[in-house]
Amino acid sequence: MRTVASVITASRVKEGAGFYVRRPFPTRELDRIDPFLLLDHMEPNDLGPGEAEGAPDHPHRGFETVTYMLEGTMVHKDSAGNKGRISSGDVQWMTAGSGVIHSEMPSEEIQRKGGRLNGLQLWVNLPQRDKMMAPRYQDTLAESIPVADSPDKSVKVKVIAGESLGQSAVIQTRTPIIYLHVKMMADAAFEQPIPASFNAFIFVLSGQVTSGGQTASSDQLMLFNQDGDKVSVSTASTGADFLLVAGEPLNEPVSRYGPFVMNTKSEIMQAIDDFNEGKFGQI
Ligand code: FE
Repeated sequence: MRTVASVITASRVKEGAGFYVRRPFPTRELDRIDPFLLLDHMEPNDLGPGEAEGAPDHPHRGFETVTYMLEGTMVHKDSAGNKGRISSGDVQWMTAGSGVIHSEMPSEEIQRKGGRLNGLQLWVNLPQRDKMMAPRYQDTLAESIPVADSPDKSVKVKVIAGESLGQSAVIQTRTPIIYLHVKMMADAAFEQPIPASFNAFIFVLSGQVTSGGQTASSDQLMLFNQDGDKVSVSTASTGADFLLVAGEPLNEPVSRYGPFVMNTKSEIMQAIDDFNEGKFGQI
């Protein structure tokens, strides 16, 4: 059984054109959880007409962005001509690889009339061999993402990547990753096997979850030690709604500058040059 290394409260950070996110990492306390580079929880908000902000045209190279919408709709466009809508429960697993320029904006309806937006974005690093791969999208609708129930139905797990309770994800990852959205009722227990070599964490969306005597609540991250091959959690009088994320560390050097994540500083300089020379294309 893994023990808990620390419980970290997310920082509030302004992003894109001016919306707020809760960010457990990177922060001064925690730079990354190899192979994960960043986690943002878009602040759930009831927005008035004209208030919804997004992230207009910006580039990415060398990693993946995983967007998981909980409420509302975002519209995505990129320099390769791809266009899509991600709504409540849908996941977009975007492999930026050698580079894309994209925009991530609230749907026109939400921009015009207002509405509710709530979602998550996880950045997954790519190994050196895949950093310059052709960009790839896996837009996955909520209804095609497997959901598993524990035998007594007290735990429900949406399997975005990896395996849980006998269900396998439909999304393919470049390196071994587990990404689960777990909903536990009050006084429930859940165990998830996780290979001993993986880094693993929980990020709580609501309620309270306990492991090894430590408790995490809303917008807190529980980081596990690499000291066992399963994670065991329980709930008390309130249930819990959280992400359980784990992955095989890359153990490679990381050189990052804003939206570019490479292995060396010279590869970052190259990415900036390529971007300035228009090699990422245009929307
Ligand atoms: Fe982006």
